[in-house]
Amino acid sequence: MITDRSKVSAIIIANPDLRVAPELLLWLIDSDIPRRNILIYRGNDRDQVAAYNRAVEMSLNLPNVEYHLFADSDIRPYSASNDLFDAPYDFTCLKCDTETGLGAWAEASSFHTALWLARSSSLRQMAAPWFGWGYNPTHSAISKCVCDQFRKQAIDKGFRIGNVGHALHYPRGKQLPDSICVKERYTKNTNGDDNARKIFRT
Ligand SMILES: [Zn+2]
Repeated sequence: MITDRSKVSAIIIANPDLRVAPELLLWLIDSDIPRRNILIYRGNDRDQVAAYNRAVEMSLNLPNVEYHLFADSDIRPYSASNDLFDAPYDFTCLKCDTETGLGAWAEASSFHTALWLARSSSLRQMAAPWFGWGYNPTHSAISKCVCDQFRKQAIDKGFRIGNVGHALHYPRGKQLPDSICVKERYTKNTNGDDNARKIFRT
């Protein structure tokens, strides 16, 4: 149970623009994550692996963080998503609809990155690169999603992985119902990285 939400950072990975599902921003704010801790990162839309790895790298450099939350910008949490903050694991994912449906969550330790929370002391013991595609021997087909590498390393190191609750998600190829485009003029640079932006307090 995370009681001090001021120690939770949230990085939203928005590829390739700064579009974010409204429900995600509202849920983070309703969950008492301080606005100053919410970062929107324009990841490399040509390389999802680089985007996820950079988000972890950036989050580990934020001060006073005990829990790191990472979210794809098109994930839509709701009341069924609140279990995330009560989970006892080192790395906790919210279950959501994927390109292969809910079957991707068949195991208790199934791990996928649409919206996940990491205990900082555990994440700091994970070696980079954290994410990477799995391929068949000739690299002509993808055999594992980018999250499998993280999951294997975490299990090898004895960390507890779990998945809880549910968040809405419209998998790749489906039309997004709506989204907010966070215009650049309402954001400012942070961390010395032009792609990492905070929303101005209005
Ligand atoms: Zn995955």
